[in-house]
Amino acid sequence: MNAPKRRRASARRRAPKIGFVSLGCAKALVDSERILTTLRAEGYLLSSSYEGADLVVVNTCGFIDAAIDESLQTIGEALEHNGRVIVTGCLGARPERILDRHPHVLKVTGPHDYAAVLAAVHEHLPPQHDPFLDLVPPQGIRLTPRHYAYLKISEGCNNSCSFCIIPALRGRLASRRIDAVLAEAERLVGAGVKELLVISQDTSAYGADIRYERARWHDVEYQSRFLDLARALGTFGVWVRLHYVYPYPHVDEVIELMAAGHVLPYLDIPFQHGSPTVLKRMRRPAHAEDALARIAHWRRQCPELTLRSTFIVGFPGETDAEFEELLQWLRAAQLDRVGCFKYSPVEGASANAIAAHVPADIQEERYARFMECAAQISAARLQRHVGQRRRVLVDSVNDDGAIARSESEAPEIDGVVHIAEATGLSAGQWVEVEIIASDTYDLHARVAG
Ligand code: SF4
Repeated sequence: MNAPKRRRASARRRAPKIGFVSLGCAKALVDSERILTTLRAEGYLLSSSYEGADLVVVNTCGFIDAAIDESLQTIGEALEHNGRVIVTGCLGARPERILDRHPHVLKVTGPHDYAAVLAAVHEHLPPQHDPFLDLVPPQGIRLTPRHYAYLKISEGCNNSCSFCIIPALRGRLASRRIDAVLAEAERLVGAGVKELLVISQDTSAYGADIRYERARWHDVEYQSRFLDLARALGTFGVWVRLHYVYPYPHVDEVIELMAAGHVLPYLDIPFQHGSPTVLKRMRRPAHAEDALARIAHWRRQCPELTLRSTFIVGFPGETDAEFEELLQWLRAAQLDRVGCFKYSPVEGASANAIAAHVPADIQEERYARFMECAAQISAARLQRHVGQRRRVLVDSVNDDGAIARSESEAPEIDGVVHIAEATGLSAGQWVEVEIIASDTYDLHARVAG
């Protein structure tokens, strides 16, 4: 058991400057190195004195009483000489110990939570991006067009769907705290993003693993939970699109935000099947919910809601009757956007062993029938938009016109809005259009006068 060691980062001359005190063991030291590496990559400089820093981070140790005392004493020292202090590390797991003695620290974050420390630094001392010197732009390196971005709110999954090996590959649900997510969203919007696409493995479960931890962001306290996240993202003034939601009752509250225009009236829910017995064999989350009743309720709450989903046909043991049940369910649900896969056995998935596999020719036939049914529904639902005025976001422009999307279309997975005459339009631009025609999956429009 080594006595906690104290290490200070060396000084450089440029603002914004961080003072950093690293206490404790080698694991804490590695944490400090990772935080400092990221801060340096973001353009922060380091100060070896409290007075020369704009803000001080103290990485604490909570191993033994002596270490706790030293941590509390160091925080006090930093407050006295600098005044702006963020605390992280092992003692951060017991924030009351810190806040009782030092109620004026800016933020307390727990051990190994790099994202939360960085978010706190960004909030209280935003990075200064220099486009001539920095190799990495403030929003990071992205592979999507400039006007939309994916916002990952968690990793892993606590469910155990029998056809899926993601929990084995990526582990259990690990949510990012809400202030870290919001800080990233703010950077993206600042860099010109007009549409945030919220993704995870199970968006409705967001925050359950961190007990919906509370965090302040721009002086408002939020819980790290689905509803608060949607509410907070709705303040950015950009499109917010929610993917991978499950039909739990608490989703109703988010639909109200959609009806009020805070987030897009668009929900991506991977239902996967409509037969209760197949859903049970799939071990799907919320399989006991009456999804049709939920859909009807949501549409009453928010009539302009677009529902998107994916399905699996030919799941092991799927009988003719169960498949017919699926088609009936689909007709009743009247989903706007639908994708479908034929079941294929992923190595390691428990579904492979639960029942006889559906022969390939029957899978093929069911797939064709399913897609035909989905196409009819899609065409009929799109028809309803003809004659409407819509605000669209232009994705690309070429010699034949522009490809755009309204609030009803997510990029890459849904249909699009074709604009025939695109003179003066450019990617990333909002345009008011009038829908003049529809086909099976797409809408056709002209720029509104
Ligand atoms: S399919 Fe099921 S187990 Fe796999 S990631 Fe999605 S919710 Fe989790």
